Amino acid sequence: MIKSFGEWRGKPAHIYEISNGSLSVGISDVGAAVQYIQVKTPSGFTDVCPGFDDAGEWAKSGTYLGATVGRVANRISGAKFSLGGKMYNLSRNDGQNCLHGGEDGFDKRFFKVLTEGAQGDDWRGNMLQLSLFSPDGDMGFPGNLNLLVTYKLEGSSLGIIYKARSDKDTLWAPTCHAYFNLGGASAAASSCGDMLRINADCFTPSGAGLIPTGEVRRVEGTPFDFRDFRAMGERIDEKDEQLAIAGGYDHNFVLRGEHAACAFSRESGIKLDIYTDMPGLHFYSGNFLGGNSAFGALAPRAAYALEAQFFPDAANIPSFEKPLLKAGEGQTHRIEYKFGRV
Ligand code: BGC
Repeated sequence: MIKSFGEWRGKPAHIYEISNGSLSVGISDVGAAVQYIQVKTPSGFTDVCPGFDDAGEWAKSGTYLGATVGRVANRISGAKFSLGGKMYNLSRNDGQNCLHGGEDGFDKRFFKVLTEGAQGDDWRGNMLQLSLFSPDGDMGFPGNLNLLVTYKLEGSSLGIIYKARSDKDTLWAPTCHAYFNLGGASAAASSCGDMLRINADCFTPSGAGLIPTGEVRRVEGTPFDFRDFRAMGERIDEKDEQLAIAGGYDHNFVLRGEHAACAFSRESGIKLDIYTDMPGLHFYSGNFLGGNSAFGALAPRAAYALEAQFFPDAANIPSFEKPLLKAGEGQTHRIEYKFGRV
């Protein structure tokens, strides 16, 4: 099914819905972004992933809701990095830093829909492929980069595969910036009651401008301890230097394995397991959410993002794994959202 997503940069934008009886997922051609995820429950479908129904409103919100983020997710300090002995200056869109790929990141681009038949109004499918060409020097990043994003439903799972290739050595670290409220997405509701477990013994504390200091700190004895289920917001208002810096959670967790996190809502009975092959998970508690979403004005903490990623500022912090994409070598990254019942 194809729906209007308003207009973007003078052109009509669209949402493509893929479905399979268990899940219905809306993906916009602008930003190859997840605009909703409807999960089948015994009492009908529940949307657990807030989104927008107008591309302009979505971009204006600055929330990155559901977006395919690139070329490099999260922050790069000083909006610069060096690679192969050369310094690259990037777009500054977050103080002195580069956030989510820069001013005109992938979230603001029209992706090309490749899936055959997905141009007709009556198209139905359970898979959508979108591509983007990002030229050499785009937002300051080297190399002509081709990206293919695949969204695929299998049973109650939404799989996302990012496949990239560049003709020069470059940095490449995507994420899906989906937000969740497993009790059911709504503009005013709080998502603080969702239960959350993150498969991490350590997180990376931040300093000024939410740039990691380079320290890897144990979560034990801190409000960042999600090794066992606890309500997302249980400790969010505690007096803690790291929570104060971000106005809540906005931190990278060091994953112990591919099963990154599990969350569930006692109200809806919906459970979400997240898997990824990337080394980190950014937990952002939606501290600054806003904008006119498909449900109305989004309140802060109405939803939270769990972003599989390379560590923030890995471009400049030597002890963090650098998201290097070598010239001519294709690279794939994977995220899976698997839904179930509590
Ligand atoms: C960042 C937040 C930022 C948000 C934008 C998150 O990935 O970590 O600091 O405000 O994206 O919506």
